[in-house]
Amino acid sequence: MTEGITGKVVAITGASSGLGAETARHLVAAGAKVVLGARRVDRLEALADELGRENAAPFQLDVTDAAQLRAFTAFAVETFGKIDVMINNAGLMPLSPLEMGRVEEWDQAIDVNIKGVLYGIHAALPYFREQRSGHFINVSSVAGHVISPGGAVYSATKYAVRALTEAFRKEAKPYNIRNTILSPGAVDTELPQSVKAPGVSEFVAKFYEDAAISASSFARCVVFALSQPEDMDVNEILFRPTSQE
Ligand code: NDP
Repeated sequence: MTEGITGKVVAITGASSGLGAETARHLVAAGAKVVLGARRVDRLEALADELGRENAAPFQLDVTDAAQLRAFTAFAVETFGKIDVMINNAGLMPLSPLEMGRVEEWDQAIDVNIKGVLYGIHAALPYFREQRSGHFINVSSVAGHVISPGGAVYSATKYAVRALTEAFRKEAKPYNIRNTILSPGAVDTELPQSVKAPGVSEFVAKFYEDAAISASSFARCVVFALSQPEDMDVNEILFRPTSQE
């Protein structure tokens, strides 16, 4: 299962907690080198210590800034000699009905969840094009398939991730670049803490408490997608907890 991962250099955004951190653990266990990006650099330093500095390098990163993402991929190449995989995972889920008018949260979700992915593609593409191989994993969600009240902006961002990845998958054919959309359901991470709207946050916290499954579910999907032979492109993995509607 982990064949094809040994020696790969994988850059992960949103690696300071949740799905990104757990994926880093699984990939290092499978023989990869990981470059860890997020704003909370203390968390990244602790994770790099846990994984071993020969396997993991932390980099303070705000994905809303394209220049920082370019510096992130350059850092991966400087540190480990190349970049094979870019996991555009950083994200927020500020659920609320539009009527509440939480405009700053809308802007932030669009900047992190959509622009962050675009900037990640932009930052890794020159290396992938040059080496005529590379793999993007862009994180969408069940909310990129199913729309619920309170989820207008979040779902819009996750539909956007699927749309831009599918367009890019076709554009990237000449360069032998693979593209995987990963669309999880409820997984136990800090994500519900990004729901701040009164009334909604309590509902979401309870839903996660009842339904969420372990972050290793997501990491195992990443390992699956990355361990396929070069001639197979896993286009999307959609999964939910068995109990989730
Ligand atoms: P967490 O809240 O645990 O992790 C989110 C990560 O994103 C953190 O590492 C955070 O790091 C990072 N992040 C947020 N804003 C920025 C920014 N501006 N620049 C860089 N990094 C940023 O949640 P998850 O691990 O669950 O979320 C990961 C992805 O999975 C998200 O895209 C989310 O939408 C998606 N997802 C999660 C599901 C779940 O149930 N958990 C379900 C479906 C999709 P820091 O604050 O240190 O910058």
